Amino acid sequence: MHMIGTSGAGDGHDAESQRKERVRFEHESLPQRVRFASGEAAAMVRAEVERVSASRVMVIAAAAEAEPAEKVTAGLRVVLRWSDVAMHVPVGVAERARAAATGHAVDCVVSVGGGSTTGLAKAIALTSGVPIVAVPTTYAGSEATSVWGLTEKGRKTTGVDARVLPRSVVYDATLTVSLPVPMSVASGLNALAHCVDSMWGPRADPIDRALAEEGIRALATGLPAVVADPSGLPGREQMLYGTYLSAVAFSSAGSGLHHKICHVLGGAYDLPHAQTHAVVLPYVLAFNAPAAPEAERRIAAAFGAGSAIEGLQRLRHAVDAPKALRDYGLNEADVEGAVQPILDAMPDGNPRPVTAGDLRRLLRSAWQGTDPRTMTDDEET
Ligand code: NAD
Repeated sequence: MHMIGTSGAGDGHDAESQRKERVRFEHESLPQRVRFASGEAAAMVRAEVERVSASRVMVIAAAAEAEPAEKVTAGLRVVLRWSDVAMHVPVGVAERARAAATGHAVDCVVSVGGGSTTGLAKAIALTSGVPIVAVPTTYAGSEATSVWGLTEKGRKTTGVDARVLPRSVVYDATLTVSLPVPMSVASGLNALAHCVDSMWGPRADPIDRALAEEGIRALATGLPAVVADPSGLPGREQMLYGTYLSAVAFSSAGSGLHHKICHVLGGAYDLPHAQTHAVVLPYVLAFNAPAAPEAERRIAAAFGAGSAIEGLQRLRHAVDAPKALRDYGLNEADVEGAVQPILDAMPDGNPRPVTAGDLRRLLRSAWQGTDPRTMTDDEET
């Protein structure tokens, strides 16, 4: 049971109705240490590795992140450096990394990179139970969830397991200044999507919504600052702070409509993860928000906008966000094939029922990149 109004925003009527609302929910906080200090990753990682009493460390970092990873892990007893990383963690890549970790009797994995790198560390922890110290360099947020993902023959499987939750997360914004602006924008909107879906995910509760609202505020402040000054730390710090909040909220609330759509599209058509989220989000928000007044109010308040969709679109315009799925490899004919798998995966608790016709309209609009506010209901379902 969830559903409580807790927003500070709103008119007298909202305050009056909130006074009468009852509060009842279940929420699980995940056990994890978080350290946040720009420029201090090496010292923080050393302390966190000591905390888990590890002496045989495996460092995972893609080739592009090898140099910062070396600096961050200086002073550790590293027995294995691993750079074979691929998006969505193909099973073959996971198996090679697991065998190497076992062969070197690794007792801790330090991952330095985006969601793909964290994902490989999780694949190792899933079968071995070794602790992870995660050092994220994008805004994917995987470091703060207990969700793992593996891909085999084009099919992505995900699951939840306490063993894959990193014991510690080390946030150092200096490690993100090299993330190119277009990737920063797409990845930042991926984090924003975690916040928005946390408003109505199947287990969404008042704590998730409070975290998500503050996450949106931080991301909406940070992203334009990153675009204006990619090497400036204040914007990068807001982004990592918002990323963490978004992921904690999302891990608790579970995948809502937005994530189910992106999961099907990403898995079936091999679309890039962050960009797919960035494109689809406004269409899901435009579809759901009219039927979710509390989410609408909180998201609008977080953006400081008249409505949730107006706030999101203003941000997307300001940062030149990815616009259309056709720009990222989806063919028009693929839209139809995605409809039924999404319907089959429909999460509980969506604010309004979803028909095949709704999905067709939503996906077609996202494919073309038309204004989400003009999605109409006039087509046959
Ligand atoms: P990614 O990790 O694949 O990184 C994208 C690109 O950016 C890569 O080429 C990478 O080398 C580069 N990069 C990363 N950090 C950089 C930096 N600081 N400077 C320059 N280049 C940098 O992409 P992502 O969007 O971070 O992660 C996507 C993956 O994470 C997907 O597989 C997705 O399913 C997974 N994910 C999992 C969860 C979860 O909870 N399990 C949550 C979100 C995403």
